[in-house]
Order: sequence, then structure tokens, then C-alpha cells
Amino acid sequence: MIDLRSDTVTMPGRAMREAMVTAEVGDDVLGEDPTINLLQDKMASLLGQGAGLFVPSGTMANQVAIKTHIQPGDEILIDQDAHIYYYECAATAVIAGGQFHCLKGDNGILSPEAIAAAIRPPDIHQPPSRLVCLENTHNRGGGTIYTVERTTSITKLASSQNIKVHLDGARLFNAALAARTTVKELTGGVDSVSICFSKGLGAPVGSVLCGSADFIAEARRFRKMFGGGMRQVGILAAACLYALDHHVERLEEDHENARRLASELAQMDGIQIEPEQVITNIVIFDVAGTGLDAGSFSDKLATEGVLTIPFGPTTVRAVTHLDVRAADIDRALEIIRHFLKSSAR
Ligand SMILES: *Cc1c(COP(=O)(O)O)cnc(C)c1O
Repeated sequence: MIDLRSDTVTMPGRAMREAMVTAEVGDDVLGEDPTINLLQDKMASLLGQGAGLFVPSGTMANQVAIKTHIQPGDEILIDQDAHIYYYECAATAVIAGGQFHCLKGDNGILSPEAIAAAIRPPDIHQPPSRLVCLENTHNRGGGTIYTVERTTSITKLASSQNIKVHLDGARLFNAALAARTTVKELTGGVDSVSICFSKGLGAPVGSVLCGSADFIAEARRFRKMFGGGMRQVGILAAACLYALDHHVERLEEDHENARRLASELAQMDGIQIEPEQVITNIVIFDVAGTGLDAGSFSDKLATEGVLTIPFGPTTVRAVTHLDVRAADIDRALEIIRHFLKSSAR
């Protein structure tokens, strides 16, 4: 099986597991896990923030951040395809009591102009605009990125209006590689940022939320409230630290594989994709021209040995990652070519 469903399917390898076995641990709810503390400090410094907080998932990182930033009845400006809006079970409505004001970004990427136009005037009838959420890279946008300039122009605008900015940086290292910059530059003055270790970085579990020391102190209380206070969890942080040391630069390989997949797919009958838009590890293509909907395309391709995810009525997503080699992409392309020929008959 060539599993291109998501970069979350990566398996922790032997060396990562060995790092986990030998990790020094302590009670992290009491702040005493040295490996967790090391990871949190390292991430805060990498991201240019005051402090960091380890949480079990990217969803919890985002929702703890939102809960810390807003009050019930506040409005959050966000792209309509953002993970926080699309894939987090309406957690923000349930937990923080926030209302989303959805904007349509350019493949998920918002402009400062669109945000400026959506900020509410002071008006007794309207909710106050309090938070902007960005996503870099943008998952449903096809791994698109916010550049340093774009992020900075948005954070400047927001701070001039007394609005906070949270960055869902689940794949921020992918963005930094594609933009030939650092994750620190890409945070461009945001008030909080989350990064996932269980995506392309290949750790089994974990995200880190970063922000100012005061923000993180408050977020720590909400993490406990959400049930995310864990004990000897340095075992997991050890996997994340291993990933930071060994799996960041190699993301470039995933980008290369994704670019090749996209440019070859673009030449196949019935498939539509703009390969120049694929700059990280996410490949979204339209299969309408094959006469199949996304679900049946994906199901049938799975029986041939390539796993993908139906993403829209006729769009399918393939993601490259740590456990997919260049040769697997060749093989996947061969299978797809053959599959298209046989289904055209
Ligand atoms: C995967 C992902 C998350 C977090 O997902 P979890 O499964 O909760 O870890 C958040 N944002 C984006 C953009 C993601 O792709």
C-alpha cells in the first residue's frame, strides 16, 4: 500500500522510539518534566515567543489558544476552509463561545484588505472582532503558504485595531522550507502559534502552543480544564525533540515528491491540477474529467494499492510524508496511469 491519505500516518521509527525509552521524565502538571520543559523552551525560542505549552493535539492547541484569547460572543475572522473552522467539531462554539466570520481566501490565504473590510465597527448590534486566525501551510488550500510579508501586514493591521492573531502552524516547518525562511520569521508578530509534531515531522503525538509568558500561564489553566494536563509525558516530548533534530530538513524531500506527483498528474487525461501551486507536501486534484466522483475515484484507487482522501465532490487529496519514498511516487503514478486507462474503457 502507498498511503498518501495524510502525513499523520507516519510511523515512529526505531531511533525515535529509543529516544522515547530513555527520556528523563517528571510530573508535567507540576511543571517537573525536564524533557517537556526542554521541548517547550526550544519551541518558544525557535518561534520567537515567550513560552511554550505541550498539548496532545493540534486541535487542543488551537482551541486552548482561542479560549485564552476571547470571551463568549466575540467574533473571529477566519478563512472559510480553515482547519479550525472546518475540522474541529465546532469546538470554538462549544468551548470558547466564539462566533466565526468566515472570509474567502485565495486558496486559503487571506489578504489584509479582506480582513480590514470585515472588522466590525463599534456598534451595539454587532459582535466585537477580537481575533484573526491564520493557517500556514493551509491544508484545504493545497499546502499554500503565508509569506513573511503577508503575515506581517496582517499582524500590523490587527494590532492597530486591538485584535489578536493566532497562527495555526500545524505545518509551519513545511511553510518555512517552501518560503526559504525560518519559522521565527513566519510568525511575524502573531500573538500565539501552534505547531504539530504528528504530521510530517513523524512523531506519534503532540503539538506545542507558543505565546507570551502571560498568555501561556493562562493557557496552561485551560489545558488542565480541557483534560490535557498529562503526567510523565516527556516520553512523548522526546519523540518531538528527535523529530526537530532529524525530520525538519528532510521535509524538502516531501515537497519534491509532491511537486513531481502534481506535475505528472497534470498530464493525465481526466485529471485537473495546477502543478505550480503545489509548493509543499499537499496535492489536491480534480477528477471530474474521469467521470468519477471523488469518493469512487479514491475507493477504486485504493483497491489498486494507492490510498488518497476524497476532499470535495470531485477533488481528491494526496499528501507526501516521511514514509513515502521517491520510488513510491513513481509506483503510485504508474498505478494511477494504468487505473485511468482501464476505467476509461
Ligand atoms: C492536522 C491539523 C491540525 C490539528 O489536528 P489534530 O488531529 O487535532 O492534531 C490543525 N490544523 C491543521 C491545519 C491541520 O492540518
